[in-house]
Amino acid sequence: LPAMITSSGILTIDLHAICANWHFLKNQVAPHVDVAAVVKANAYGLGAVPVVRALRKEGCTTFFFATKEEALASGLNGEHCLKIVLSGVRSGDEPFFVEGQLTPVLYSLADVQRWNAYAKNCCKRLPCILKVDTGMTRMGMSIEELEAFCEAHASIHIAPLFLMSHLACADTPSHPANQRQLQLFKQALDIAQVRFPEIKASLANSAGILLGADWHFDLVRPGAALYGINPVSGIPNLLKPVITLSLPVLQIRSLQHDAYVGYSATHFAKAGSRLAVVAGGYADGIHRTLGFKPLAQFNGMAFEAVGRVSMDSCVFDISQCPENRLPQVGDYLEVVNESLSLNFLMERNASLGYEVLNSLGTRFHRIYQ
Ligand code: PLP
Repeated sequence: LPAMITSSGILTIDLHAICANWHFLKNQVAPHVDVAAVVKANAYGLGAVPVVRALRKEGCTTFFFATKEEALASGLNGEHCLKIVLSGVRSGDEPFFVEGQLTPVLYSLADVQRWNAYAKNCCKRLPCILKVDTGMTRMGMSIEELEAFCEAHASIHIAPLFLMSHLACADTPSHPANQRQLQLFKQALDIAQVRFPEIKASLANSAGILLGADWHFDLVRPGAALYGINPVSGIPNLLKPVITLSLPVLQIRSLQHDAYVGYSATHFAKAGSRLAVVAGGYADGIHRTLGFKPLAQFNGMAFEAVGRVSMDSCVFDISQCPENRLPQVGDYLEVVNESLSLNFLMERNASLGYEVLNSLGTRFHRIYQ
């Protein structure tokens, strides 16, 4: 058989751009501040193994995962770097953490006490991160719980490397919650440092980095910004775009009669319209619920999607395309590039950017460059 031609779209992931974004963020913080990489959810859908490998080469030494499974599958050797598990360590999982050189984020008093008891049993000073809730009301000890632990007379066998907290509203820089969380975090840090003078601090995600030096402490934890998502909507995006998505043309239609296009007949196309049906639909992350019209580019021309996105395909109106520049079956239309659609959407609406990246499907042929 001849080499198989991919029948699905091509997703190009620019690892150089991810590394450039990491360096850009490093330049936003003082030299003593470390820049981690949040690579949970398979590096926001882009592939944790290649992303971790590329960033490791650039000197990144701290990686955040959601689960122990993600951390263990990352291919990262824990010797000279930190593999931090945001969802903590569940009872019975402790040996996997020690064996896999994983550092758990501990976010309840019970977790801290259990990890402490395990460390005592192993006769090892086991590292961990203490997470305090300063207003996100998701995971994290209350300041009172942190205080109770720090002031307890029980001997402590763990080595908390960082006190961390997570910002709820950093993507809205003027939101009063940012200052409130900062003040509470400083209060928590004062408490922790009495018992653990060496403990460091981490508060900022991507948007938190842009809030300024007060939010940086010792370690910042960007995810979105590494992958080109503008952390704060409505300001110029200074990050490099990371993905390009190209979808193959399955069929070119020249309409003989007026016709409705796609499910629920939401688009009316006039006779003479020319349409390109391309492979790629909501099963691939091109959601019809995103409320935007994907744009595609071919030969320097841009086309708008018409009708509803289907599970495996969508339709572009190429009527304005001159005869001599028409795409043919098998050609690729680019739906994400520096100026178009998904990146455009990610710039305009950071929160949708997270969903777009995370839902890019598994059917694409992925090229890392
Ligand atoms: N820190 C924590 C605890 C997170 O849960 C996340 C992601 O949700 C991040 C940092 C990275 O956030 P962002 O992708 O907004 O930079």
